Amino acid sequence: MKKNKLSLWLPLIAVLIMLLPACGKKKIQIPFYRLDVRVEPSSGKIECNVNIRPAPDSCFYLDGDLQINRIKAGGEEVPFRRESSSKVVMDGLKHDNLQIEYSGFLNNVMSGVNMVNPDLVELALYATWFPILEGGALFEFELNADLPSDFITITNGRLQQKRQYDNRMLTAWVSFKPGFDIVLLASPHLRQVSENQNNTNVEIYYSKLPRDYILAKKDSLISGMAQFTTFYGPPRVKGHLRYVYSPRSGWGYSRIPLFVVSEEYALSLLQEEFGQARDFHGAAHEMAHFWWSIAPTNTPDDWINEGLAEYSGFRLSEACFGREFADLLVREYREHAAASETETAIAETVSSSPDRYVNRYEKTTLLFIEARSRYGSEQLDGVLKTLHTRFAGTQNVTTAIFLDEVEKQLGPDASAFFKKTLYRKKWVEE
Ligand SMILES: [Zn+2]
Repeated sequence: MKKNKLSLWLPLIAVLIMLLPACGKKKIQIPFYRLDVRVEPSSGKIECNVNIRPAPDSCFYLDGDLQINRIKAGGEEVPFRRESSSKVVMDGLKHDNLQIEYSGFLNNVMSGVNMVNPDLVELALYATWFPILEGGALFEFELNADLPSDFITITNGRLQQKRQYDNRMLTAWVSFKPGFDIVLLASPHLRQVSENQNNTNVEIYYSKLPRDYILAKKDSLISGMAQFTTFYGPPRVKGHLRYVYSPRSGWGYSRIPLFVVSEEYALSLLQEEFGQARDFHGAAHEMAHFWWSIAPTNTPDDWINEGLAEYSGFRLSEACFGREFADLLVREYREHAAASETETAIAETVSSSPDRYVNRYEKTTLLFIEARSRYGSEQLDGVLKTLHTRFAGTQNVTTAIFLDEVEKQLGPDASAFFKKTLYRKKWVEE
């Protein structure tokens, strides 16, 4: 089950970003992409035209199967070469407005989740389907997607316009906030359920799951958002939740406010005891990242994001599905903690550690559950609400900042308890 959790794949992005070697000086301005894409699901071909401003200094990354037809800057052609299959180096770039035309066939399924075929178009970072800049800098985007008119199109942006022509559908989107990915997901098989309640718009897309199941899921997500808002204050991207059961196997990922999970996995869960509870728990974890994306994801401080998302998902599951399921989760956390492969402290666990998941997600949840019973749920929420309010929209929270806030609000005993547990090499539950 853990291997199917979408949260598992966030570190891949962090690792990918870290693997990208630097190639030039840093820019301070947030890059803006205007990306026009035409997709032919029947052949697997995509044709793209992208404008990036400001231009990257000298290089970008793009999937090796995609043919770069032309690069221009300030109206002039820019010479370029592929240094490796995905790294493209440009020479003598003088202007700040870069235009790249590229096209090609994405006939292969990338990383199990990205593909272009007659039943499903799913494009995200994993396929490197748009030029990725050095260091994985955050950017804003405008996306114009041109697909067959029987395809339902979903992205991680805000829909601006929809226009049908001939047998095609054009949709225009802009990013909600600076992010690191452009997700384009479309299929003729998707059905939609949506509801706007208390200014929260929840959209769920699915293909084969029973409609009643989806309706129940929608209600639980809406009430979950409301509960998190009570606990931690309003979320960073207010009022939008787009949840897609993508008609495929493979893993899931979240690009707030978009969550993409495998519908095949959800269908298989329905056959299991607590399957619905597990599906909800996974969704609640991802939803909690609306609040818990306040620490860097590529340093050991990521335990703050993942630990708080998992703890938040745990408490919602506990409230929704009861003691028996909550006890089962705690038993699993404990079993996994006891089976840790290394003796590495939670706050010192790097992304490549085999204990990354158990340390950042599971031991931390046990830690928060223990802290809740020691210091009180509302008192602990006071600390969490302050951290979210102060740091939402940044990734600046470190273990030291977390411990300071605990000390301020819960006192020195509490911060000593957290510090000891976070820095102890061997896992021991007190
Ligand atoms: Zn997560």
